[in-house]
Amino acid sequence: MTVQDQPAPFSAPEATPPLLPRTLMQPEHEAFRRTVRRFFETEVAPYTEQFERDGHIPRQLWNRAGELGLLLTAIPEEYGGMGGDRLFSTVLMEEQGRVLASATGFMLHSDIVAPYILHYGTEEQKRRYLPGMATGERVGAIAMTEPGAGSDLQGIKTRAEDKGDHYLLSGSKIFITNGYLADLVIVVARTGNTGKGSRDLSLLLVETNSEGFSKGKPLKKMGMKGQDTCELFFSDVRVPKENLLGQEGQGFRMLMQELPWERLIIAIEAQAAAEAVFDLTRQYVKERQAFGQAVMDFQVTRHKLAELQTEISLGRTYVDECTRAMLGGKLTPQAASAAKYWVSEMCSRVMDACVQLHGGYGYMWEYPVARAFVDNRAHRIYGGTNEIMKELISRAL
Ligand SMILES: Cc1cc2nc3c(=O)[nH]c(=O)nc-3n(C[C@H](O)[C@H](O)[C@H](O)COP(=O)(O)OP(=O)(O)OC[C@H]3O[C@@H](n4cnc5c(N)ncnc54)[C@H](O)[C@@H]3O)c2cc1C
Repeated sequence: MTVQDQPAPFSAPEATPPLLPRTLMQPEHEAFRRTVRRFFETEVAPYTEQFERDGHIPRQLWNRAGELGLLLTAIPEEYGGMGGDRLFSTVLMEEQGRVLASATGFMLHSDIVAPYILHYGTEEQKRRYLPGMATGERVGAIAMTEPGAGSDLQGIKTRAEDKGDHYLLSGSKIFITNGYLADLVIVVARTGNTGKGSRDLSLLLVETNSEGFSKGKPLKKMGMKGQDTCELFFSDVRVPKENLLGQEGQGFRMLMQELPWERLIIAIEAQAAAEAVFDLTRQYVKERQAFGQAVMDFQVTRHKLAELQTEISLGRTYVDECTRAMLGGKLTPQAASAAKYWVSEMCSRVMDACVQLHGGYGYMWEYPVARAFVDNRAHRIYGGTNEIMKELISRAL
């Protein structure tokens, strides 16, 4: 970021009172929310255009988030984290959604990548990587998707050849969040030849400064334009055996264990974005005049808002219940898939209706509702497409 960049001030619309009171958060989470809110309002939201021009956030914003204690909130203090429960992570996701910030990949780093290391890493791996991730000195990413394999992870071709004390990694990955600025990537690679995809995959902790590791430019996306998403290439990258995460051939199992929480994260983010866009649309239709009255005064507008608020409230209740189940260790893959699928689709319906209620202004890029419309479309695709979510739900029927 350069000094001449003028930040656009952020002003939040008035929050709509919920139909039902929320009971999920404790006073300590709400106290934490104040710090997080200030950060997103003053250090993130005003710089949206700058992030979009660059295709990623500035490297120093990672350090700033670390300095404020906003990274790795649910990782124990002995590894540099905040030692909180996952409601602190939830607060971060909600506040990011409240300002409709789509450029910061903090949740993927703190709540997806770091937990893999915490849950499956050796003591040495945890001490080597987690403290740097907590300060923002080390940015984390996870690379599963390949040009020829997304939904079907068993089709992964990236190979890690066993060379005794190390692996030789070759292949490529695509659509990797935080990829451009990443220092550490969990790479899903094929290590076995049993022909059973689920037994042949392993997770490797790969440092991006390794010889043979290269990155593409940030990809030009339909939305989330400020979020760092890129391709990664591995050309005989030497990965020491001590960088194997968990056991060889157990990659697929580890991914399956972590995915319910990852899917709930997407639901939490989509829910927060739907609420934020609803709030700003409610404000807009009260101010916008047509035919001598506020757009809000047309019955069709009020009924549309009533429908949206009802859907948003149903989403809120389900997301909070899934979060409670997750905290109690009872979130099933089906419940998480249902949250991801339904809330992301509800979010799309809300975005679409809110663009319409803004009229032509809703189609203009400088209006947050226009950005939110495309940014939030991605929730239906990543973390497993919604078709795959329905597949997972239906398998248990
Ligand atoms: C902004 C963004 C960020 C991302 N970040 C990451 C990241 O950090 N790390 C990472 O590894 N990946 C990431 N991804 C990739 C994402 O997870 C994949 O794009 C997604 O899993 C879908 O894979 P695909 O693109 O290969 O689509 P495909 O698998 O080719 O799917 C194409 C279509 O076929 C449908 N389909 C496929 N299989 C079935 C089936 N069995 N039944 C019914 N329909 C089916 C899909 O639902 C979809 O509609 C990201 C993607 C985006 C857009």
